[in-house]
Amino acid sequence: MKIPIKVRTLASKAEISRSCLVSNFGRLRSLAQSGGARDIIAVVKANAYGHGVDRCAPWLAEAGARWLGVTSVAEGIAVRRLCPSPSILIMTALQAEEADDAIASRLTPTVWEPRHLEWLAAAAGQRAAALGSVPVHLEIDSGMSRQGAPATEGAIAAFLQALRRFPALELEGVFTHFAAPEELDAAQTAAQLVSFRRAVQQVTEAGFRPRFVHVGNSATLLAQRDLPALVQLAHGAGAEFLSRPGIALYGYSLPFSGGDAPPAAASLQPVLAWKTQIASLRRIDAGALVGYNGTFIAPRPMTIALLPIGYADGFSRKLSNRGHVLIRGQRAPIVGRVSMDLTTVDVQDIPGVAAGDEVVLIGGQGDENITADDLAHWAETISYEILCGVGARVERIAAP
Ligand SMILES: *Cc1c(COP(=O)(O)O)cnc(C)c1O
Repeated sequence: MKIPIKVRTLASKAEISRSCLVSNFGRLRSLAQSGGARDIIAVVKANAYGHGVDRCAPWLAEAGARWLGVTSVAEGIAVRRLCPSPSILIMTALQAEEADDAIASRLTPTVWEPRHLEWLAAAAGQRAAALGSVPVHLEIDSGMSRQGAPATEGAIAAFLQALRRFPALELEGVFTHFAAPEELDAAQTAAQLVSFRRAVQQVTEAGFRPRFVHVGNSATLLAQRDLPALVQLAHGAGAEFLSRPGIALYGYSLPFSGGDAPPAAASLQPVLAWKTQIASLRRIDAGALVGYNGTFIAPRPMTIALLPIGYADGFSRKLSNRGHVLIRGQRAPIVGRVSMDLTTVDVQDIPGVAAGDEVVLIGGQGDENITADDLAHWAETISYEILCGVGARVERIAAP
């Protein structure tokens, strides 16, 4: 007999705010549309950046999202079960064995190699798909050297030639991805724009009429700087423009450089709050060593609080002796190494502190606030990694 084991503790929980997500979505869509875009593709890859795609995708669909972006066919299938209406863009390379599932779940694959088309056409044939009934989006590698068709005449011509052989496939979209959209003075973005424009021109000159051209993540949308050129590029190709924000839906953006931070970034609201509680308190003497390898030595007698979370929950080991949490509206510094399931904080200066007190790891408490950007700064990474890293055993709870 299989015994179900739910490996999830109530040691910490992540509250996911529906109203913040929906409000961010509305703001971003208005921002895109006021800039001439048709719509946005709401990116919910990586379990909605750690927020729980099972809730976030339906919330976005109910708020009017007509496009959702995910990483893989497996994610797409999961989202399709919950969201029957929106188009679902698969944003990474298709695998041969996924082609049939992609079509069965009405997903929109990203393609750039002739073999992607062959797999899809074969799967479409088995399903007797009608002419042009399987939409595909061509990604152009305009300068990231990661994925997409190289932006050379030869590579694009070879792809288009292959595409002509498969009338069941419809080239619905053409897109590219920018490497440094938050660097407002980046020469790389300007160069990518030039190479993408040339590629789109080649596609239309070959007689293809994609309905959509989409470029740009949260930073591109928030900065607004390249939006007019991108919209014009799309319209010039007889297509509508879509923007693809991800992190901004969850209330964050990358730190901008090379110019003023765009005001739109300030109006976003963090969607996730991460909380735990004090498991236990202890008095230690001056000179006591705290945690693995004694990396913190008590400078005086002090009170230490034990938190039932650690790097297995996504509370990075890099936070060891760096940063703080909130208890009773005050900052409690992290002391000693963060271990797998446990973290210790200094609560010496927090009057009335008690076992069971709420501890905020991300979010507000009293007048204080900790953001995923703060944790990212302490852990030397970006908010994306902090949010995606909130562990599987941390229960996500729906909040207003
Ligand atoms: C992840 C991703 C996005 C969204 O990026 P953010 O920086 O989170 O806004 C957009 N487009 C593609 C292709 C992506 O992979």
